[in-house]
Amino acid sequence: AYDVLIVGGGPAGAAAAVYAARKGIRTGIVAERFGGQVLDTMAIENFISVQETEGPKFAVALEQHVKAYDVDIMNLQKAQALVPGKGMTEVRLADGGVLKGKTVILATGARWREINVPGEREYRNSGVAYCPHCDGPLFKGKRVAVIGGGNSGVEAAIDLAGLVAHVTLIEFGDELRADAVLQRKLRSLSNVTIIMSAQTTEIHGDGKKVNGLSYKDRNSGETLKVELEGVFVQIGLVPNTEWLKDTLALSRHGEVEIDARGQTSLPGVFAAGDCTTVPYKQIVISAGDGAKAALSAFDHLIRTSVS
Ligand code: FAD
Repeated sequence: AYDVLIVGGGPAGAAAAVYAARKGIRTGIVAERFGGQVLDTMAIENFISVQETEGPKFAVALEQHVKAYDVDIMNLQKAQALVPGKGMTEVRLADGGVLKGKTVILATGARWREINVPGEREYRNSGVAYCPHCDGPLFKGKRVAVIGGGNSGVEAAIDLAGLVAHVTLIEFGDELRADAVLQRKLRSLSNVTIIMSAQTTEIHGDGKKVNGLSYKDRNSGETLKVELEGVFVQIGLVPNTEWLKDTLALSRHGEVEIDARGQTSLPGVFAAGDCTTVPYKQIVISAGDGAKAALSAFDHLIRTSVS
């Protein structure tokens, strides 16, 4: 059995692995896809001390850092059940394998909900973006749309309005769902247009990058086009925690509930990164929380093992 068994190989899991291994305890990391979301990212410009890098390069660096230590890396393995036991937690894999840990760190991350229209996949990272904190500055002085009128969409629109030339906020329903205070702020901005009852039907481009978006006015049935350079899709971030349902406490959004030390509702089970209730889903935050969860797991081990 492992002293620390980590599920997930993104920034949170990798940081947890490095911190655990440096304590000289038996550490294993199992990941469906080592690297996580950064594999789908192009420019990363906000990981402190690294002025600029690219996602795939960052993912390789994560793996190399973990490989510099005595850590069992089990890549391309999907965990499908967590089974708590006395002093030992089991992680059951989709291929039938069973791994055991005296402590377990859950770091399975999240995925952005897609709108599934033509152009979205083709222009991902070439005008289609999901994270305003990450990609907002790339659109300085340009025109963008934000799809989604919930809190994250309206926050993104307010944030972007301070950076870009113009923001069109597109909401499917006939009213915005964001908090009233955010809606008031949004409506006070002169470079924002709000379009309601609008179903995005296509993101257009010139083969290289985005140059427009079409939507159907759900009242008139008419299809209209907006010319722009960027589209931020803000219709939800889904934590990869479906496999944990009924095992430990999740928030109503499906995030693993943790305290300030990364402790979940199950003793000996910790969590870190985008799969948790910690606000602001970012690389530097996930990595910091992965380190924190590993230190908490180590603390748990020295308090519970008598040998
Ligand atoms: P993830 O990176 O999601 O990693 C989760 C890991 O768990 C993966 O290895 C995955 O395969 C694995 N996993 C999931 N389910 C299972 C399972 N059942 N069994 C086994 N393994 C599993 N952040 C920034 O700070 N700056 C940026 O510029 C930036 N740009 C971004 C651009 C894009 C396009 C995207 C999608 C995200 C971007 N982010 C950026 C956000 C950042 O990538 C995430 O906050 C960060 O990767 C979260 O790290 P994590 O380790 O918590 O989760």
